[in-house]
Amino acid sequence: QAKAHNRGRYCFFSEKLREGLERREAVADALRLALENGEIDIALQPQFKIADGAHAGFEALARWRHREGEMPPGQFIPVAEETGLIIPLGQYVLERTLAEASRLKKLSLTPGIVAVNVAASQLKLDNFPETIETLLRRYGLPPEALEIEITENVLLDRSSRRIGQSLQAIHEIGIQIALDDFGTGHASLSHLKRIPVDRLKLDRSFVCGIGINAGDEVIVRTILNLAQSLGKSVVAEGVETRDQLNFLRNLGCDIGQGYLLSVPLAPQKAERFLRKNVSCSVTGLPAEPASP
Ligand code: C2E
Ligand code: MG
Ligand code: MG
Ligand code: MG
Repeated sequence: QAKAHNRGRYCFFSEKLREGLERREAVADALRLALENGEIDIALQPQFKIADGAHAGFEALARWRHREGEMPPGQFIPVAEETGLIIPLGQYVLERTLAEASRLKKLSLTPGIVAVNVAASQLKLDNFPETIETLLRRYGLPPEALEIEITENVLLDRSSRRIGQSLQAIHEIGIQIALDDFGTGHASLSHLKRIPVDRLKLDRSFVCGIGINAGDEVIVRTILNLAQSLGKSVVAEGVETRDQLNFLRNLGCDIGQGYLLSVPLAPQKAERFLRKNVSCSVTGLPAEPASP
């Protein structure tokens, strides 16, 4: 009886596992096609200087316009990372973003610093720093115009030495490096000494707790103190309310990004946004709220 029961459970789990695998395979196959068919594009989310509301730059986020609606990055990025598709995807996002920044500049607009998310496997590629340098040259952009965002977990990768060297080379080119989702990963603070990080991106989960959770407020304060002591700037992500923005301003947080200020914009909307020269007012809202 116990045997039958166990067999039943076994079947149940393997069925589940198989389903998961199939879905992952299906997502991977569809993603491969999407890359070939140009269904992947970027959205650009504006970032603002919190002190004066001036526009500072954009973060590029991958967007997949799937036949059956939009597939969120939270679903396809992990699959892309597991299957290695993150390499062509990441390359595409990087090139598309630099092409867009260059196009905007040619229109006499100022995109500021564009930030691109980069995965561990990209950093492990031979010649990744050289590839970026070649792209910057092709699109006529100075290295300071680009920032790459890595997560702390990238620093825990088995090939962390290789990744460290790659980051060093990227930094020496003059490209900025930001540590994304800071405070949520498993890396130790000692990585901040070893890796040439220019900016910390304060994770949305902490920003979200401002005004609600005393523990989150302590963490926000502590991360801002740490960054100031180490001479690094801080980008707060997921700013959704004026209270959060005011709290961050009072603590001297440098840059803000979030739905309160602007949602991620399709490239054409980003162009319109720059034409209007939108900045966020000192009270916390953009002079002209941007829509997606
Ligand atoms: P991330 O790099 O931390 O990007 C910020 C995410 O927060 C984006 O989600 C953005 O749309 C969302 N967001 C911005 N402001 C707010 C806000 O005020 N409230 C809330 N609730 N969310 C906000 P998205 O676009 O869904 O991307 C999710 C994650 O997928 C990214 O997190 C990043 O880790 C990854 N990702 C996206 N594009 C790429 C890419 O091209 N390459 C790699 N390697 N990862 C990417
Ligand atoms: Mg990011
Ligand atoms: Mg982030
Ligand atoms: Mg995040």
